[in-house]
Amino acid sequence: MDCIFCKIVNKELPADIVYENENVLAFKDIHPKAAVHILVVPKIHIESINSENSENIVGDLILAAKNIIKRDNITGYKLLFNIGREGGQMVDHLHMHLLAGNPS
Ligand code: AMP
Ligand code: ZN
Repeated sequence: MDCIFCKIVNKELPADIVYENENVLAFKDIHPKAAVHILVVPKIHIESINSENSENIVGDLILAAKNIIKRDNITGYKLLFNIGREGGQMVDHLHMHLLAGNPS
């Protein structure tokens, strides 16, 4: 399957990985829209929030984000999902944007 986030999960494509656990990988967005712009993705391929059972996985993503912000002393942040092409989703592997700080 030609999925860039699967390739990053499988370490076939380089990424600036900032967090990893059994279910989740987090890495810096290549085109950051804030001082902190991290993408948190499930290790399994699932397309979007619209996919069946995505809500279980979303809990893992949020838990990972909470671990990251605690570790990095981030006090205020945004969590964002783009869903579907018309919702701004460009990569069809479920991902959550973690944004914090000023645009850079
Ligand atoms: P979305 O529009 O929600 O699908 O967001 C996709 C995000 O992935 C965008 O913010 C891109 O900058 C980011 N992105 C695309 N390719 C890569 C990559 N190889 N490494 C890191 N981030 C990427
Ligand atoms: Zn994938």
